[in-house]
Amino acid sequence: MSKDQVGWDKLNDGEILEVEKISREYMRFISTVKTEREAVKFFKEMAESKGFKELTNNISKKGNYYLIKNWKAMALIKLGGNPLEPYKILAAHMDSPRLDVKPNPIDEDPDSRTVLFKTHYYGGIKKYQWVSRPLAIHGVVMTKDGKKIEIAVGENEEDPVFSIPDLLPHLARKVQGEKKLLEGFEGEKLELVVSHRPEKDEKEGRFKKYLLNLLKEKYGIEEEDFYTADLEVVPAGKAREVGFDKSMIGAYGQDDKICAFLTVKAILDSNMEGNQIVILFDKEEIGSDGNVGAQSNLIEYTIVKILESTGTQYTYGNLLEIMHNSKVISADVGAALNPLFKEVHDLKNVGRSGDGVLIMKYTGSGGKYSASEAQAEYLSEIKRILDTNHVLYQYGLLGKVDEGGGGTVAKYFAQYGFQVVDMGPGLISMHSPFELVSKLDVYSSYKAYLSFLNF
Ligand code: MN
Ligand code: MN
Repeated sequence: MSKDQVGWDKLNDGEILEVEKISREYMRFISTVKTEREAVKFFKEMAESKGFKELTNNISKKGNYYLIKNWKAMALIKLGGNPLEPYKILAAHMDSPRLDVKPNPIDEDPDSRTVLFKTHYYGGIKKYQWVSRPLAIHGVVMTKDGKKIEIAVGENEEDPVFSIPDLLPHLARKVQGEKKLLEGFEGEKLELVVSHRPEKDEKEGRFKKYLLNLLKEKYGIEEEDFYTADLEVVPAGKAREVGFDKSMIGAYGQDDKICAFLTVKAILDSNMEGNQIVILFDKEEIGSDGNVGAQSNLIEYTIVKILESTGTQYTYGNLLEIMHNSKVISADVGAALNPLFKEVHDLKNVGRSGDGVLIMKYTGSGGKYSASEAQAEYLSEIKRILDTNHVLYQYGLLGKVDEGGGGTVAKYFAQYGFQVVDMGPGLISMHSPFELVSKLDVYSSYKAYLSFLNF
Protein backbone atom coordinates (compact mmCIF):
# COMPACT_ATOMS: atom_id res chain seq x y z
CA MET A 1 0.00 0.00 0.00
CA SER A 2 1.45 3.34 -1.00
CA LYS A 3 2.00 5.80 1.83
CA ASP A 4 -0.69 8.34 1.10
CA GLN A 5 -3.39 5.88 0.09
CA VAL A 6 -5.57 4.32 2.75
CA GLY A 7 -8.01 1.44 2.42
CA TRP A 8 -11.02 3.62 1.68
CA ASP A 9 -9.27 5.12 -1.39
CA LYS A 10 -9.07 1.68 -2.94
CA LEU A 11 -12.75 0.75 -2.89
CA ASN A 12 -14.99 1.34 -5.90
CA ASP A 13 -18.67 2.27 -5.55
CA GLY A 14 -19.81 -1.32 -5.86
CA GLU A 15 -17.51 -2.36 -3.05
CA ILE A 16 -18.71 0.49 -0.82
CA LEU A 17 -22.23 -0.91 -1.22
CA GLU A 18 -20.91 -4.34 -0.24
CA VAL A 19 -19.25 -2.81 2.83
CA GLU A 20 -22.58 -1.34 3.95
CA LYS A 21 -24.48 -4.53 3.21
CA ILE A 22 -22.29 -6.83 5.26
CA SER A 23 -21.98 -4.22 8.05
CA ARG A 24 -25.77 -4.10 8.41
CA GLU A 25 -25.94 -7.88 8.54
CA TYR A 26 -23.15 -8.02 11.10
CA MET A 27 -24.73 -5.29 13.27
CA ARG A 28 -27.97 -7.26 13.48
CA PHE A 29 -25.97 -10.22 14.77
CA ILE A 30 -23.72 -8.42 17.25
CA SER A 31 -26.65 -6.38 18.62
CA THR A 32 -28.42 -9.46 19.94
CA VAL A 33 -25.83 -12.22 20.35
CA LYS A 34 -23.85 -11.52 23.52
CA THR A 35 -22.82 -14.94 24.81
CA GLU A 36 -21.24 -18.08 23.34
CA ARG A 37 -24.50 -19.99 23.90
CA GLU A 38 -26.48 -17.42 21.96
CA ALA A 39 -23.84 -17.54 19.21
CA VAL A 40 -24.13 -21.34 18.91
CA LYS A 41 -27.92 -21.08 18.60
CA PHE A 42 -27.64 -18.27 16.05
CA PHE A 43 -25.11 -20.13 13.87
CA LYS A 44 -27.06 -23.39 14.10
CA GLU A 45 -30.09 -21.63 12.64
CA MET A 46 -27.95 -19.86 10.05
CA ALA A 47 -26.42 -23.18 8.96
CA GLU A 48 -29.71 -25.05 8.94
CA SER A 49 -31.26 -22.37 6.74
CA LYS A 50 -28.53 -23.21 4.20
CA GLY A 51 -29.21 -26.95 4.42
CA PHE A 52 -26.53 -27.99 6.93
CA LYS A 53 -27.46 -31.12 8.88
CA GLU A 54 -26.32 -32.34 12.26
CA LEU A 55 -23.26 -34.61 12.00
CA THR A 56 -24.72 -37.98 13.00
CA ASN A 57 -23.20 -41.46 12.91
CA ASN A 58 -24.04 -42.25 9.33
CA ILE A 59 -23.37 -39.49 6.82
CA SER A 60 -22.31 -39.09 3.21
CA LYS A 61 -18.72 -38.19 2.23
CA LYS A 62 -20.08 -35.18 0.42
CA GLY A 63 -22.35 -32.77 2.24
CA ASN A 64 -22.72 -30.00 4.80
CA TYR A 65 -22.87 -30.67 8.52
CA TYR A 66 -22.54 -29.12 11.94
CA LEU A 67 -21.46 -30.43 15.31
CA ILE A 68 -22.29 -28.79 18.65
CA LYS A 69 -20.37 -29.35 21.88
CA ASN A 70 -22.17 -28.51 25.15
CA TRP A 71 -23.90 -25.52 23.48
CA LYS A 72 -20.60 -23.67 23.96
CA ALA A 73 -18.49 -24.69 20.98
CA MET A 74 -19.32 -25.84 17.47
CA ALA A 75 -17.99 -26.85 14.08
CA LEU A 76 -19.49 -26.25 10.65
CA ILE A 77 -18.28 -28.75 8.10
CA LYS A 78 -18.31 -29.02 4.32
CA LEU A 79 -17.18 -32.34 2.91
CA GLY A 80 -16.08 -32.54 -0.71
CA GLY A 81 -16.14 -36.32 -1.22
CA ASN A 82 -12.90 -37.65 0.27
CA PRO A 83 -12.62 -37.08 4.05
CA LEU A 84 -8.94 -38.16 3.97
CA GLU A 85 -7.95 -35.09 1.98
CA PRO A 86 -6.63 -31.99 3.82
CA TYR A 87 -9.04 -29.43 5.22
CA LYS A 88 -9.24 -25.65 5.01
CA ILE A 89 -10.00 -24.56 8.54
CA LEU A 90 -11.14 -21.23 9.96
CA ALA A 91 -11.01 -21.03 13.75
CA ALA A 92 -12.51 -18.31 15.95
CA HIS A 93 -13.81 -17.91 19.49
CA MET A 94 -17.25 -16.91 20.68
CA ASP A 95 -16.53 -15.94 24.29
CA SER A 96 -15.81 -12.32 25.27
CA PRO A 97 -14.61 -10.67 28.48
CA ARG A 98 -17.50 -10.01 30.88
CA LEU A 99 -18.72 -10.49 34.43
CA ASP A 100 -20.12 -13.88 35.44
CA VAL A 101 -22.74 -14.15 38.16
CA LYS A 102 -21.25 -16.06 41.12
CA PRO A 103 -22.81 -19.42 42.08
CA ASN A 104 -24.16 -17.90 45.31
CA PRO A 105 -24.76 -14.36 44.10
CA ILE A 106 -27.44 -12.73 46.25
CA ASP A 107 -26.05 -10.09 48.59
CA GLU A 108 -28.70 -8.21 50.53
CA ASP A 109 -27.68 -4.86 51.99
CA PRO A 110 -30.45 -3.44 54.19
CA ASP A 111 -28.19 -0.47 55.03
CA SER A 112 -28.48 0.84 51.50
CA ARG A 113 -31.91 -0.76 50.84
CA THR A 114 -30.50 -2.72 47.94
CA VAL A 115 -29.94 -6.30 46.87
CA LEU A 116 -26.88 -6.96 44.76
CA PHE A 117 -25.53 -9.82 42.67
CA LYS A 118 -21.93 -10.80 43.30
CA THR A 119 -19.91 -11.35 40.12
CA HIS A 120 -16.62 -12.87 39.05
CA TYR A 121 -14.96 -11.20 36.09
CA TYR A 122 -14.08 -13.37 33.12
CA GLY A 123 -11.10 -12.59 30.91
CA GLY A 124 -9.03 -9.44 30.64
CA ILE A 125 -11.21 -6.53 31.64
CA LYS A 126 -10.41 -3.06 32.94
CA LYS A 127 -12.78 -3.12 35.88
CA TYR A 128 -13.49 0.61 35.96
CA GLN A 129 -15.08 0.35 32.48
CA TRP A 130 -17.95 -1.75 33.85
CA VAL A 131 -19.33 0.57 36.51
CA SER A 132 -22.13 3.13 36.15
CA ARG A 133 -23.44 1.75 32.90
CA PRO A 134 -26.52 -0.25 31.93
CA LEU A 135 -25.86 -3.98 32.10
CA ALA A 136 -27.88 -6.98 30.97
CA ILE A 137 -27.94 -10.55 32.27
CA HIS A 138 -27.86 -13.40 29.75
CA GLY A 139 -27.66 -17.14 30.29
CA VAL A 140 -29.39 -20.26 31.50
CA VAL A 141 -30.59 -21.49 34.87
CA MET A 142 -31.28 -25.18 35.48
CA THR A 143 -34.08 -25.69 38.00
CA LYS A 144 -34.35 -28.47 40.61
CA ASP A 145 -36.39 -30.63 38.26
CA GLY A 146 -33.89 -30.21 35.42
CA LYS A 147 -35.76 -27.57 33.46
CA LYS A 148 -33.60 -25.17 31.47
CA ILE A 149 -34.68 -21.53 31.84
CA GLU A 150 -33.13 -19.20 29.28
CA ILE A 151 -32.69 -15.62 30.38
CA ALA A 152 -31.84 -12.38 28.59
CA VAL A 153 -32.88 -9.34 30.61
CA GLY A 154 -31.87 -5.82 29.68
CA GLU A 155 -31.99 -5.76 25.89
CA ASN A 156 -35.61 -4.87 25.09
CA GLU A 157 -36.83 -1.35 25.72
CA GLU A 158 -39.34 -2.50 28.32
CA ASP A 159 -36.73 -4.61 30.13
CA PRO A 160 -34.99 -3.34 33.24
CA VAL A 161 -31.19 -3.13 33.27
CA PHE A 162 -28.70 -3.52 36.10
CA SER A 163 -25.82 -1.35 37.23
CA ILE A 164 -22.67 -1.38 39.35
CA PRO A 165 -22.68 1.84 41.36
CA ASP A 166 -19.50 3.93 41.15
CA LEU A 167 -18.47 6.37 43.85
CA LEU A 168 -19.43 10.02 43.49
CA PRO A 169 -16.36 12.19 42.75
CA HIS A 170 -17.10 14.34 45.81
CA LEU A 171 -16.08 11.46 48.10
CA ALA A 172 -13.58 9.64 45.90
CA ARG A 173 -10.50 11.64 46.86
CA LYS A 174 -8.98 8.98 49.13
CA VAL A 175 -10.81 5.73 48.40
CA GLN A 176 -10.11 5.90 44.66
CA GLY A 177 -7.94 8.98 44.13
CA GLU A 178 -4.91 7.52 45.87
CA LYS A 179 -5.02 4.28 43.91
CA LYS A 180 -3.64 3.38 40.51
CA LEU A 181 -6.20 3.60 37.72
CA LEU A 182 -6.52 -0.15 37.19
CA GLU A 183 -6.94 -0.77 40.93
CA GLY A 184 -9.65 1.87 41.42
CA PHE A 185 -12.34 -0.79 41.44
CA GLU A 186 -11.58 -4.23 42.88
CA GLY A 187 -12.96 -7.54 41.65
CA GLU A 188 -15.04 -8.17 44.79
CA LYS A 189 -16.61 -4.73 44.44
CA LEU A 190 -18.07 -5.55 41.04
CA GLU A 191 -21.57 -6.12 42.42
CA LEU A 192 -24.61 -5.03 40.52
CA VAL A 193 -27.83 -3.63 41.94
CA VAL A 194 -30.63 -6.05 41.07
CA SER A 195 -33.45 -4.88 43.34
CA HIS A 196 -34.47 -2.33 45.93
CA ARG A 197 -38.00 -3.06 47.27
CA PRO A 198 -38.71 -4.96 50.51
CA GLU A 199 -41.37 -7.57 51.20
CA LYS A 200 -43.95 -5.91 53.47
CA ASP A 201 -44.51 -8.36 56.33
CA GLU A 202 -41.14 -10.03 56.74
CA LYS A 203 -38.71 -8.78 59.37
CA GLU A 204 -35.32 -10.15 58.44
CA GLY A 205 -34.08 -10.49 54.89
CA ARG A 206 -37.15 -8.79 53.50
CA PHE A 207 -35.32 -7.16 50.58
CA LYS A 208 -33.96 -10.50 49.48
CA LYS A 209 -37.34 -12.10 50.06
CA TYR A 210 -39.01 -9.65 47.69
CA LEU A 211 -36.45 -10.41 44.99
CA LEU A 212 -36.77 -14.19 45.44
CA ASN A 213 -40.57 -14.03 45.22
CA LEU A 214 -40.24 -11.98 42.05
CA LEU A 215 -37.74 -14.38 40.47
CA LYS A 216 -39.97 -17.34 41.36
CA GLU A 217 -43.01 -15.69 39.86
CA LYS A 218 -41.32 -14.33 36.72
CA TYR A 219 -38.86 -17.09 35.85
CA GLY A 220 -39.65 -20.04 38.10
CA ILE A 221 -36.21 -19.76 39.69
CA GLU A 222 -35.38 -20.45 43.34
CA GLU A 223 -32.28 -19.37 45.23
CA GLU A 224 -30.58 -22.76 45.07
CA ASP A 225 -31.03 -22.78 41.26
CA PHE A 226 -28.24 -20.19 40.96
CA TYR A 227 -25.82 -22.98 41.84
CA THR A 228 -26.83 -24.69 38.59
CA ALA A 229 -26.67 -21.70 36.27
CA ASP A 230 -24.47 -20.03 33.63
CA LEU A 231 -25.31 -16.33 33.91
CA GLU A 232 -23.25 -13.63 32.23
CA VAL A 233 -23.41 -9.90 32.84
CA VAL A 234 -22.82 -7.96 29.63
CA PRO A 235 -23.26 -4.36 28.46
CA ALA A 236 -26.92 -3.72 27.60
CA GLY A 237 -27.96 -2.31 24.26
CA LYS A 238 -27.40 -2.59 20.56
CA ALA A 239 -24.44 -2.01 18.29
CA ARG A 240 -24.21 1.53 16.90
CA GLU A 241 -22.65 3.20 13.90
CA VAL A 242 -19.85 5.50 15.04
CA GLY A 243 -18.80 8.83 13.58
CA PHE A 244 -20.63 11.48 11.50
CA ASP A 245 -19.71 9.42 8.46
CA LYS A 246 -20.99 6.20 10.08
CA SER A 247 -17.80 4.48 8.97
CA MET A 248 -17.22 2.48 12.13
CA ILE A 249 -19.23 0.09 14.27
CA GLY A 250 -19.20 0.23 18.05
CA ALA A 251 -20.38 -2.83 19.99
CA TYR A 252 -19.66 -5.14 22.89
CA GLY A 253 -18.20 -8.60 22.23
CA GLN A 254 -16.65 -7.99 18.83
CA ASP A 255 -13.57 -9.91 20.06
CA ASP A 256 -14.13 -12.43 18.70
CA LYS A 257 -17.76 -12.78 17.71
CA ILE A 258 -16.97 -10.65 14.67
CA CYS A 259 -14.72 -13.40 13.30
CA ALA A 260 -17.13 -16.12 14.40
CA PHE A 261 -19.85 -14.42 12.36
CA LEU A 262 -17.67 -13.68 9.33
CA THR A 263 -16.15 -17.17 9.17
CA VAL A 264 -19.59 -18.80 9.42
CA LYS A 265 -20.86 -16.50 6.68
CA ALA A 266 -17.81 -17.39 4.59
CA ILE A 267 -18.30 -21.16 4.80
CA LEU A 268 -22.00 -20.81 4.03
CA ASP A 269 -21.14 -18.68 0.97
CA SER A 270 -18.11 -20.64 -0.27
CA ASN A 271 -18.47 -22.46 -3.56
CA MET A 272 -15.38 -24.69 -3.45
CA GLU A 273 -15.87 -28.44 -3.37
CA GLY A 274 -13.06 -29.37 -0.97
CA ASN A 275 -13.13 -30.20 2.74
CA GLN A 276 -13.71 -27.19 4.98
CA ILE A 277 -14.28 -26.63 8.68
CA VAL A 278 -15.20 -23.55 10.65
CA ILE A 279 -14.54 -24.31 14.31
CA LEU A 280 -15.74 -21.98 17.04
CA PHE A 281 -14.44 -22.22 20.58
CA ASP A 282 -15.31 -20.99 24.03
CA LYS A 283 -12.83 -20.07 26.81
CA GLU A 284 -10.22 -18.34 24.61
CA GLU A 285 -10.30 -15.30 26.86
CA ILE A 286 -9.21 -17.35 29.89
CA GLY A 287 -6.50 -19.39 28.17
CA SER A 288 -8.44 -21.83 25.96
CA ASP A 289 -8.75 -24.36 28.81
CA GLY A 290 -11.67 -26.71 29.40
CA ASN A 291 -13.63 -29.11 27.21
CA VAL A 292 -14.92 -26.36 24.91
CA GLY A 293 -11.63 -24.46 24.62
CA ALA A 294 -9.03 -24.78 21.87
CA GLN A 295 -6.74 -26.77 24.16
CA SER A 296 -9.30 -29.58 24.23
CA ASN A 297 -9.18 -32.21 21.49
CA LEU A 298 -12.24 -30.75 19.76
CA ILE A 299 -10.56 -30.35 16.34
CA GLU A 300 -9.15 -33.87 16.52
CA TYR A 301 -12.53 -35.18 17.68
CA THR A 302 -14.26 -33.36 14.80
CA ILE A 303 -11.97 -34.89 12.17
CA VAL A 304 -12.15 -38.40 13.69
CA LYS A 305 -15.92 -38.07 13.93
CA ILE A 306 -16.04 -37.16 10.23
CA LEU A 307 -13.89 -40.18 9.30
CA GLU A 308 -15.91 -42.57 11.48
CA SER A 309 -19.32 -41.23 10.47
CA THR A 310 -18.55 -41.43 6.75
CA GLY A 311 -17.33 -45.02 7.14
CA THR A 312 -13.85 -44.00 5.95
CA GLN A 313 -11.09 -46.55 6.58
CA TYR A 314 -8.17 -44.77 8.23
CA THR A 315 -5.09 -45.25 10.36
CA TYR A 316 -3.55 -43.02 13.01
CA GLY A 317 -1.01 -42.12 10.32
CA ASN A 318 -3.84 -40.90 8.06
CA LEU A 319 -5.12 -38.70 10.86
CA LEU A 320 -1.68 -37.17 11.40
CA GLU A 321 -1.30 -36.61 7.65
CA ILE A 322 -4.62 -34.78 7.56
CA MET A 323 -3.57 -32.49 10.40
CA HIS A 324 -0.08 -31.83 9.06
CA ASN A 325 -1.38 -31.03 5.57
CA SER A 326 -4.44 -28.99 6.50
CA LYS A 327 -4.35 -25.21 6.55
CA VAL A 328 -5.71 -23.01 9.28
CA ILE A 329 -6.56 -19.35 9.64
CA SER A 330 -6.85 -18.36 13.27
CA ALA A 331 -9.57 -15.77 12.78
CA ASP A 332 -9.18 -13.39 15.67
CA VAL A 333 -9.10 -9.65 16.07
CA GLY A 334 -5.92 -7.64 16.36
CA ALA A 335 -5.18 -4.26 17.90
CA ALA A 336 -5.63 -1.30 15.56
CA LEU A 337 -3.69 1.89 16.22
CA ASN A 338 -5.39 3.86 18.98
CA PRO A 339 -5.14 7.58 18.15
CA LEU A 340 -4.78 8.47 21.85
CA PHE A 341 -2.17 5.86 22.82
CA LYS A 342 0.14 5.61 19.83
CA GLU A 343 3.11 5.24 22.18
CA VAL A 344 2.33 1.56 22.92
CA HIS A 345 2.54 0.60 19.26
CA ASP A 346 5.46 0.26 16.88
CA LEU A 347 4.18 2.52 14.11
CA LYS A 348 6.01 0.52 11.46
CA ASN A 349 4.37 -2.74 12.59
CA VAL A 350 0.86 -1.84 13.59
CA GLY A 351 -2.57 -2.40 12.07
CA ARG A 352 -4.69 0.62 11.20
CA SER A 353 -8.49 0.79 11.13
CA GLY A 354 -9.67 0.88 7.54
CA ASP A 355 -6.57 -0.55 5.89
CA GLY A 356 -7.98 -4.04 5.53
CA VAL A 357 -7.75 -7.41 7.23
CA LEU A 358 -4.79 -7.61 9.60
CA ILE A 359 -2.29 -10.44 9.25
CA MET A 360 -0.33 -11.15 12.42
CA LYS A 361 2.79 -13.23 11.80
CA TYR A 362 3.07 -14.04 15.48
CA THR A 363 1.53 -13.22 18.84
CA GLY A 364 2.97 -13.97 22.30
CA SER A 365 4.89 -11.58 24.55
CA GLY A 366 8.43 -10.45 25.36
CA GLY A 367 10.95 -12.53 23.42
CA LYS A 368 8.15 -14.17 21.39
CA TYR A 369 7.30 -16.35 24.37
CA SER A 370 4.13 -18.44 24.03
CA ALA A 371 3.96 -17.41 20.39
CA SER A 372 2.69 -19.26 17.42
CA GLU A 373 4.61 -17.99 14.42
CA ALA A 374 3.51 -18.47 10.84
CA GLN A 375 6.27 -19.51 8.48
CA ALA A 376 7.37 -17.43 5.50
CA GLU A 377 6.17 -20.02 2.98
CA TYR A 378 2.67 -20.14 4.43
CA LEU A 379 2.46 -16.35 4.70
CA SER A 380 3.42 -16.09 1.06
CA GLU A 381 0.73 -18.58 0.08
CA ILE A 382 -1.88 -16.55 1.98
CA LYS A 383 -0.59 -13.33 0.39
CA ARG A 384 -1.06 -14.80 -3.09
CA ILE A 385 -4.64 -15.80 -2.27
CA LEU A 386 -5.45 -12.29 -1.02
CA ASP A 387 -3.75 -10.58 -3.98
CA THR A 388 -5.51 -12.80 -6.51
CA ASN A 389 -8.87 -11.94 -4.95
CA HIS A 390 -8.16 -8.21 -4.51
CA VAL A 391 -8.59 -8.34 -0.75
CA LEU A 392 -7.30 -5.33 1.19
CA TYR A 393 -4.85 -6.53 3.83
CA GLN A 394 -2.08 -5.26 6.05
CA TYR A 395 0.52 -6.65 8.42
CA GLY A 396 0.72 -5.77 12.09
CA LEU A 397 1.74 -6.87 15.55
CA LEU A 398 -0.01 -6.27 18.85
CA GLY A 399 2.26 -3.57 20.28
CA LYS A 400 5.82 -2.66 21.13
CA VAL A 401 8.04 -5.60 22.07
CA ASP A 402 8.18 -4.98 25.83
CA GLU A 403 4.76 -3.38 26.18
CA GLY A 404 2.71 -6.47 26.97
CA GLY A 405 1.32 -9.26 24.83
CA GLY A 406 -1.38 -11.78 24.19
CA GLY A 407 -2.21 -14.96 22.33
CA THR A 408 -4.88 -16.62 20.26
CA VAL A 409 -5.96 -20.20 19.50
CA ALA A 410 -3.28 -20.40 16.76
CA LYS A 411 -0.70 -22.15 18.93
CA TYR A 412 -3.07 -24.98 19.85
CA PHE A 413 -3.45 -25.79 16.15
CA ALA A 414 0.29 -25.50 15.62
CA GLN A 415 0.77 -28.21 18.29
CA TYR A 416 -1.12 -30.66 16.09
CA GLY A 417 1.08 -29.82 13.11
CA PHE A 418 -1.34 -27.59 11.21
CA GLN A 419 -0.07 -24.63 9.19
CA VAL A 420 -1.65 -21.64 10.89
CA VAL A 421 -1.64 -17.84 10.79
CA ASP A 422 -3.62 -15.18 12.65
CA MET A 423 -5.80 -12.95 10.51
CA GLY A 424 -8.73 -10.71 11.39
CA PRO A 425 -9.99 -7.15 11.69
CA GLY A 426 -8.18 -4.66 13.94
CA LEU A 427 -10.18 -3.27 16.86
CA ILE A 428 -9.79 -0.06 18.84
CA SER A 429 -10.71 -0.30 22.57
CA MET A 430 -10.46 -4.09 22.48
CA HIS A 431 -11.99 -5.89 25.51
CA SER A 432 -13.96 -2.78 26.46
CA PRO A 433 -17.77 -2.66 26.67
CA PHE A 434 -17.74 -0.72 23.38
CA GLU A 435 -15.14 -1.94 20.92
CA LEU A 436 -14.69 -0.12 17.61
CA VAL A 437 -14.17 -1.64 14.18
CA SER A 438 -13.98 -0.07 10.74
CA LYS A 439 -16.74 -1.21 8.39
CA LEU A 440 -14.08 -1.60 5.72
CA ASP A 441 -12.24 -4.13 7.87
CA VAL A 442 -15.43 -6.12 8.45
CA TYR A 443 -15.79 -6.43 4.68
CA SER A 444 -12.10 -7.16 4.05
CA SER A 445 -12.03 -9.87 6.72
CA TYR A 446 -15.07 -11.61 5.28
CA LYS A 447 -13.54 -11.42 1.81
CA ALA A 448 -10.25 -12.80 3.12
CA TYR A 449 -11.94 -15.79 4.77
CA LEU A 450 -14.08 -16.51 1.72
CA SER A 451 -11.06 -16.29 -0.63
CA PHE A 452 -9.13 -18.70 1.58
CA LEU A 453 -11.96 -21.26 1.46
CA ASN A 454 -12.52 -20.80 -2.26
CA PHE A 455 -8.89 -20.99 -3.29
MN1 MN B 1 -9.75 -12.78 20.54
MN1 MN C 1 -9.58 -11.20 23.59
